Amino acid sequence: MHDGDRADTADMTDFDRGTGWGREEAPLSAVAHTGEREVETTLRPRTLDSFVGQPRVREQLQLVLESARKRGVPPDHVLLSGPPGLGKTSLAMIIAAELDTSIRITSGPALEKAGDLAAMLSNLAEGDVLFIDEIHRIARPAEEMLYLAMEDFRVDVVVGKGPGATSIPLEIPPFTLVGATTRSGALTGPLRDRFGFTGQMEFYTPEELEQVLKRSASILGIAIDDEGRAEIARRSRGTPRIANRLLRRVRDYAEVRADGVATLPVVRAALQVYDVDELGLDRLDRAVLDALVRSFNGGPVGVSTLAVAVGEEPTTVEEVCEPYLVRAGMLARTPRGRVATALAWEHLGLQPPPEVGRLDAATPSLFD
Ligand code: ADP
Repeated sequence: MHDGDRADTADMTDFDRGTGWGREEAPLSAVAHTGEREVETTLRPRTLDSFVGQPRVREQLQLVLESARKRGVPPDHVLLSGPPGLGKTSLAMIIAAELDTSIRITSGPALEKAGDLAAMLSNLAEGDVLFIDEIHRIARPAEEMLYLAMEDFRVDVVVGKGPGATSIPLEIPPFTLVGATTRSGALTGPLRDRFGFTGQMEFYTPEELEQVLKRSASILGIAIDDEGRAEIARRSRGTPRIANRLLRRVRDYAEVRADGVATLPVVRAALQVYDVDELGLDRLDRAVLDALVRSFNGGPVGVSTLAVAVGEEPTTVEEVCEPYLVRAGMLARTPRGRVATALAWEHLGLQPPPEVGRLDAATPSLFD
C-alpha cells in the first residue's frame, strides 16, 4: 500500500485497508473470540499447581491464600493486572477453588448502576469470591459503593428519590474481591488502594507456552511433536490464549491437509495460511507497523491517527497490537507519540533512516 492510499480511509472495508480481520476473528487477538469460551473452560487449569508460569504471582498468591486459610478469614482483595489472555480469569477461579468456595463472575461494563452491584453483593455467601473482570470500566456510582463493600462489608442502598430518599445500610458477608484489569493505570487511586494484593501478570516465555501446549494437546487429543509445539509457542506472543487457539487451527490444518500429526513443516504451513508470521505478528500488527513506517516515516504519531490509518479503533491498536509490538522491540510509546524502532523497519524489509538509530541511542528512557 502506498502513502496516498491512507489519505481517506472512511469508506474502505477492513480488507481494503489490509487488516482483513475484525478484532474478534483475528487469529492472534488476545481477546477471546465469540464461541471460544467453551473450549477455554475445558482448557482452564484448576489448581495453582497446574497453572503454568507466572512464578512470582503464583508464589505471592500461595502465601496470601495460605495465611488466610490459617487465620480462618477470607483473604485480602486481589487485583490481577496484565494484558488479555494471560490467565487472570483462570487465576480468579483457582483462588475460589483453592479456598473451597464459590465464585460469582461479573464485569466492569455490566455494573452500570450501583443497583447492579448491590444485587451481586447481596447474593454473596460468606467467603465467596466475587470476580469483576475489566474492573477499570466500572461505572462511578457502582465504584463508590464498592469502596464501602470492600472495606466494611456493608453497602448503603438508597431507596426513593429526592427529599424523601433514605439510605438503608445493608450488611454483606465477608467476601474476597478479585478484580482483573488490562489497564491498571486507568484505575482510580481509592479503588487501587483497597486491594491488599496486586499480581502483575507477565507475558509467558516460549518454554512456558510449550508446557501450556503440551497440556492442551493432551486434553484435546491433538497429535503434535516437540518441534511443532516449540514453533507454535514461539509465535504465540507470550499469550496462552493465543497458543491454545493456534494449536486448534494447526489441528484443523493437520487433519485436512496432512495425516493428522502436527510436525514442524505442518505447523509452518498452517501458520502461513493463517497469516501468522515468524515473529507472531498478524496482518493488523503489520498494517500498524506499515502505516507507522511508510505513511508517517516512523513517527512519532498519535495512536488515534495511527488507528484511523489502519481502520481500527484506537483501543484495539492500543490494547491488542501495541503491548506485543512494544515487547518485541518494534514500537515505542513516547510522550510525543508512537515511534517505529529500527527493528520495525527491518521487519518490513526496509532500511531504517539514520535518525532512527540516533533516537534509539540518544533517548533510551523514552522506550519502555
Ligand atoms: P484473561 O482472563 O487474562 O484474559 P484467561 O484466564 O481467560 O485469561 O485465559 C485464557 C485461556 O488461556 C484459558 O482458557 C486457559 O486455557 C489458558 N491459560 C491462561 N493461563 C494459563 C496458564 N498459566 N496455564 C495454562 N493455561 C492457561
